[in-house]
Amino acid sequence: MHQVQLAGLTVDTRHAIGGERLASAETFDSISPIDGSILAHVSRGGAAEVDAAVQAARAAFPAWRDLGPEGRGELLHRLADLVEANLEPLANLETLDNGSLLRSHLRGVMPRVAMNIRFFADWAMNRLHHEVWQTRGHDNNVSWDPSGVAALITPWNAPLMLATWKIGPALAAGDTVVLKPAEWTPLTASVFADLANEAGIPAGVFNVVQGFGAEAGAALVAHPGIARISFTGSVPTAKAIARAAADNLTPVSFELGGKSPLIVADDADLDLAVGLAVEQYDNAGQVCLSGTRLLVHEAVAERFAEAFAARAAALRQGDPREEETQIGPQIHRVHLDRVDGFVQRARESGARIAFGGGPNEELGGLYYRPTLVVDAAPDSEILTAEVFGPVLAMQTFSTDEEAVELANGTEFGLAAVVVCGDRARAERLTKNLVAGTIWVNCFFVRDLAAPFGGSKKSGIGREGGTWSFDFYADVKNTVYAPTGWKE
Ligand code: ADP
Repeated sequence: MHQVQLAGLTVDTRHAIGGERLASAETFDSISPIDGSILAHVSRGGAAEVDAAVQAARAAFPAWRDLGPEGRGELLHRLADLVEANLEPLANLETLDNGSLLRSHLRGVMPRVAMNIRFFADWAMNRLHHEVWQTRGHDNNVSWDPSGVAALITPWNAPLMLATWKIGPALAAGDTVVLKPAEWTPLTASVFADLANEAGIPAGVFNVVQGFGAEAGAALVAHPGIARISFTGSVPTAKAIARAAADNLTPVSFELGGKSPLIVADDADLDLAVGLAVEQYDNAGQVCLSGTRLLVHEAVAERFAEAFAARAAALRQGDPREEETQIGPQIHRVHLDRVDGFVQRARESGARIAFGGGPNEELGGLYYRPTLVVDAAPDSEILTAEVFGPVLAMQTFSTDEEAVELANGTEFGLAAVVVCGDRARAERLTKNLVAGTIWVNCFFVRDLAAPFGGSKKSGIGREGGTWSFDFYADVKNTVYAPTGWKE
């Protein structure tokens, strides 16, 4: 009754707390965006379940901390092995639950899940150190001490991938974890808890509480027993979490939305620029990093727009399990309506829909056509707010200064893409762009060692490499006097 068979896996629909399964009296439905079918009735947690999970994580903390990076690393590598051994079913389950392309889950996302675990385990073992330096003969020794229980709150657009981007460093740092996955995509996190058990990770080190943001999520971030909150999601939710965190002064790491620019200079390789622009429809536009504002030099705007429309028209939309599909469904009816609302309001306020502009009537369900909005009024909603769907807007510019001004003209600062034929010019352009990550003539090249996060309203803090440990650990400096030293 508490387990369902999906994609060749047994998926437990209860919370994973202290190495055991715990059901709530109430449940919520996990619905597949592919066809609207109900996949599972999942336990709907609240304050009581959160408290049990935090207590379990606190109880497990001292032993996990004392295991040290090597001891933890061995278990984490075993966990990564198990992810790899279950790669195909995990990929299929994730596609059923969130509707993203099966082939990218198989080839990119799930291998990356295993990598997230391995990479940070190895970093803690081999690369987390600082040279000792001296102050008047005294040695400064920096260490990264485990800090306690990390509360992780994650979104639905890349569920297990974004969860493990936090779980990996948190566990490697010696923290124990309570994860609250997004209510639209609760399933792979549950399987991951089983894999953690199977890998021999001690009971209570990794816990999952399922449920809604306003219930389980809110209870978790307000809990006085947690040491860290890492959250990926929307700005309004981040504000609610920051308020809750304020009471206990819990440190937060936020990775929030974006309205990133994709700048096409007049000397750009247009074929490359068009290819990169089309990539912004990946994951049906449900990507925080997407360059959703195409800022194109006026000298090449017409040629770019024509070639872009042709390439976008050739995109194949359909069932995300099919190999040829390039754009799948939106996650949920509520979300599709929200995306469409942005487009219809843009149309009503005088912008022109160059192509797309509504649901895919042939496919029905949650499929939204790749859309391009042009001629929108400066500062209008469609040019400043995050849509999180397959909706791009195009503007033109005439000088590089204007491009930078337009690019920086939103409250976000997550990423930017610059397509430009000249390195020195690209360096001038990127110098004043406000963004956590800038890609020049490329997109989505992400190294786990690199800092990742957003500026302005796109986030607080950076994760990746040592930056992750700076957040999850208590960084400590111990100063040793030389032998025989007298004050
Ligand atoms: P979206 O609007 O894209 O669903 P959210 O930021 O609302 O993004 O959701 C991201 C995650 O935050 C989800 O796991 C959700 O359950 C959780 N969440 C939503 N509201 C709260 C809250 N008040 N406190 C803690 N977590 C929340």
